[in-house]
Amino acid sequence: MTPQPTQLPDGFRPYVWAIPLEEQAAARGLSTAQMIRFDANVPPLPGVPQVALTQSFARLNEYPPGGYRELHAAAAGYVGVEPEQIVLGAGADELIYVVARTYLGPGRVAVVADAPTYPVYRIASELTGATVTDSAWDDLPTGEVIWICSPHNPTGRARTRAEVAAVAQANPDALVVVDEAYVEYGGETAVPLVAELPNVVVLRTLSKAFGLAALRVGYAVAAPDVAEAMRERTEPAPISAPSATIAAAALRNPRTDVEETIAERERVRAALLAAGYDCPASAGNFLFFDVAAPDQLFEELAGQGLILRRYPNGLRFTVRLPAENDRLLAALGVEAEASQRRSALVVRTTTETALRISLGLDGRGRARVDTGVGFLDHLLTLFAFHGKL
Ligand code: PMP
Repeated sequence: MTPQPTQLPDGFRPYVWAIPLEEQAAARGLSTAQMIRFDANVPPLPGVPQVALTQSFARLNEYPPGGYRELHAAAAGYVGVEPEQIVLGAGADELIYVVARTYLGPGRVAVVADAPTYPVYRIASELTGATVTDSAWDDLPTGEVIWICSPHNPTGRARTRAEVAAVAQANPDALVVVDEAYVEYGGETAVPLVAELPNVVVLRTLSKAFGLAALRVGYAVAAPDVAEAMRERTEPAPISAPSATIAAAALRNPRTDVEETIAERERVRAALLAAGYDCPASAGNFLFFDVAAPDQLFEELAGQGLILRRYPNGLRFTVRLPAENDRLLAALGVEAEASQRRSALVVRTTTETALRISLGLDGRGRARVDTGVGFLDHLLTLFAFHGKL
């Protein structure tokens, strides 16, 4: 007999990552230089660590500092609460599992508001043995946990603080979890509610506006008792020491592209609306538009190297740099007003080389260069840095 895992709930569907870009390119006879990812809802440029690598990667033989005092304080300072109200996790994803582990289990009920939305709420809830109910906003049933995604993935709709408060007041025995992964891009935060309504918990991440998804850092903001109950159910050291150090510095001194992204989101949305697309207002770094045959359009765009995220009734795409967004709009047959920011996108492939240059002239010196030649990468990176490209 081989060891048997526990039974998964009927109909359980694990999280499925997008197919790696290399495979998607190969399947379509394209090079990766021709592929642009509009599907991951992360910023097009990486966040810049404000801590020298020699410092963040020092002492790799040691565990992270017990209790992550520095990161607790930085997150608390960023949102304006006490450090004891913070719970840390390896991304907001882990905190979704921690919430589920803390408040759900067999015989308990989780409600997913504004369904369909981010699938991990259902996955984490079902893994505890709880029953999960998908619900529209207007007739939310009650349960032990109510999951709210605001700004909403995939539509971008933000619920107001008053709307969240009304749910928390109407369901005093439920933990109302507001996933604010995208809140830096718009909408009202529910954080101020936590002081009056201790059944509200807010989830945040450094994966989106901060451009640090690779670090895997998220935090929850909760009433002290709730935070304590969650911390008791977290593993000893969920965040690597380099990640914790870089994340703390980023939270103390946030440097994001939020303003540019919002301006770009509105430019692109205006163009889609003018072309007759049904594209709801979004408070995230992405837009959703209705299409009758999403699979067909997805394939058509993917054939041109443009990878979006498909849903049964439409497609979602991340707002990227202006020239990249223009490429997508052109593929959709949409004309847009030119962006205020000067940018260009050049893709060129020959039998020997595959090259993509995505250049913004009005930048901040942040660049990602990957030519395969280290010295050239270094030169171009410095050129971009000093030229503020
Ligand atoms: N919540 C939502 C709504 C998301 O879209 C995502 C990322 N796709 C996450 C949480 C996960 O964030 P993290 O990278 O912090 O785990």
